Amino acid sequence: MTAHKHAQEPATSVVVEKGEFWTANAIFFIAMHIIGLAAFWIKPPSTLPRATLLMLPLLWQAAVFGITVGYHRLWSHRAFRAGTPVRVALAFCGAMGFQGSIKVRCLRHRLHHRFTDDPVHDPYAVTRGMFFAHMGWIFWKPSYPRMSSIGREDLDRDPIVRFQHKYYVPIALFSGLIFPTLLGALWGDALGMYLYGGVVVRVIVWHCTFIVNSFAHWNGLQPYSDEVTARGNMLLAMLTGGEGNHNFVPRTRTTRHAFPHDFRAGLRIDEWDPSKWLLLFLHRFGLVWGLRRAREADISWAVKDMRRREEAKAQGLDPDEVCNGSDTDEGEQTEWNARAPGRCLLVIDGYVVDATKFMGDHPGGASLIRNYAVRDADKKLPSGQERDVPIGDWREATWAYHGGLNNHSRAATRRLRQLRIARFDDGPRS
Ligand SMILES: [Zn+2]
Ligand SMILES: [Zn+2]
Repeated sequence: MTAHKHAQEPATSVVVEKGEFWTANAIFFIAMHIIGLAAFWIKPPSTLPRATLLMLPLLWQAAVFGITVGYHRLWSHRAFRAGTPVRVALAFCGAMGFQGSIKVRCLRHRLHHRFTDDPVHDPYAVTRGMFFAHMGWIFWKPSYPRMSSIGREDLDRDPIVRFQHKYYVPIALFSGLIFPTLLGALWGDALGMYLYGGVVVRVIVWHCTFIVNSFAHWNGLQPYSDEVTARGNMLLAMLTGGEGNHNFVPRTRTTRHAFPHDFRAGLRIDEWDPSKWLLLFLHRFGLVWGLRRAREADISWAVKDMRRREEAKAQGLDPDEVCNGSDTDEGEQTEWNARAPGRCLLVIDGYVVDATKFMGDHPGGASLIRNYAVRDADKKLPSGQERDVPIGDWREATWAYHGGLNNHSRAATRRLRQLRIARFDDGPRS
């Protein structure tokens, strides 16, 4: 697979009204940076004992895994399943990242996936400028008008998520600052471990995570999809436990942003993804299971589609015109019965779509699909009564599919076409 670098214009900055200045957040964030810098003067790194120096990368990696494996792949995207011991460890390590509770961070992240680059609804939209996407968003109290459309049942069901949310502040302060200090006390360097293992590592973890939202949406490569600003880059991947492969990572537009529910952020041997390696290791010992992978057919289609677009661009042609309709696979037309119980049918673009087998794969969650499904298709009516709508009550899902709730990707639209089972006579063709 060849990945071509894009010579794209940076996204234009958009002026969006900011909310109220978040003083407490700002003071804490800036104070951590000042103490982190002062550490180099109070206790220069050359004076640190070897045990402290060895512990720093481990503490950094623990927090990064807490965010990438726990907050991101497990709780935000349900890319795998894990038992209580692993979830407790990930909730503890994730709190070390100082990025809010699992619940808060995951809901915000789901918004980012659903409204990527939307200057109003993407919490860290790069279209509002690099600084805003990186850390500017921290300084303003957010309102998130579309938050109610984001699924949260899975988070509310998990007792570990509920506990961590309720006691987030003490857990974060303990895991991120007190725990490293206590460790340091074991070898007589409580101050060094507080300053470096606590404050400095916290600041570094922040920026390593934030570059996924800023630089990973700005530079790098787009082997899987060019529909959003999400990009991949080896250096970013190394700093971010693999998440820098951001073009693949979480989002249906084609896997991280292209295939978000996949437990991997990088597929190829040269794509650095230690979070994936950790998951494969835990899987070997039965500590995690149900590792989800995007369908091979979807990935290879996405790669081919990007290649076709590159070639079209190189020839000075409009990639949309060249690629649209190049994939006419509409799926097998099979006989079906709308009244068959247990089916999950949707109406999108004038077509009836059978999402029954797809629900578990839907990156936005099955409940979202169910909200738009045809209801009571199998309910018996009293004899002599006719239905107004032949297949039951239904909410038109076209609006939700085309940007109302999520702007779906080309790969998603291709999959949708394969799930079509019937067309309304008066329905528009797409
Ligand atoms: Zn992103
Ligand atoms: Zn994600």
